[in-house]
Amino acid sequence: MREQIREYVLNLLADIASADTQLVLLLILVVTALIVVDAISAFARNKRKEAGISAKSGTVSIDGSKTLPVKKYVSEMQGLAGVPDAIISENGFIIPVERKPLARKIRDRYVAQLLVYMRLVEEFEGKRPPYGYLILGPNCRRFKIENTPERQAWLQKMIDEMREILAGAASKPAPHPVKCKKCSVRESCAHRIQPALVTVNAKQAAGTKNVN
Ligand code: SF4
Repeated sequence: MREQIREYVLNLLADIASADTQLVLLLILVVTALIVVDAISAFARNKRKEAGISAKSGTVSIDGSKTLPVKKYVSEMQGLAGVPDAIISENGFIIPVERKPLARKIRDRYVAQLLVYMRLVEEFEGKRPPYGYLILGPNCRRFKIENTPERQAWLQKMIDEMREILAGAASKPAPHPVKCKKCSVRESCAHRIQPALVTVNAKQAAGTKNVN
């Protein structure tokens, strides 16, 4: 009898030890799964933020995505083409999104690019987007750019000028000391502003001020 009790207790202890090990393993598995799910969610949240997608938006297209279709718009009618970084659906509209990861502030050329996408979205999706989004910088700051008639008229003026130049009209240079300094074609540009001239002019201006 004593032997039977001893054997029973030993078996019971073995079962408890075994159960504990399985419990610990289960806990490790659960915690690992939670960490992985959390990391995937954070990654997805970050990707949505980069693409300008809020919790209320639906994703239609992301350039470079392996799971979503990439929207490439080519309009023979308008003579325009473009691939927005993302297309989202929001408030019943198809909205283009353009991301500039290195940008610190809004530039005219970013706005012009987004306005072109808005024209293409209107033609191909059948509804005029009332706005688009620019996502700037590493922190993905989001700016809403309204699709106003004034902005579209500004874009049209630029497009008309570009077409005139392509048709043979003379281009009008717009040299700027800061832009020329960084410009990639400055060595072959006859209109560039020389840094030396800028310095001399600045010194002359400073000297004039001192005299006065
Ligand atoms: S170097 Fe020429 S093309 Fe470049 S910014 Fe200056 S004027 Fe414009």
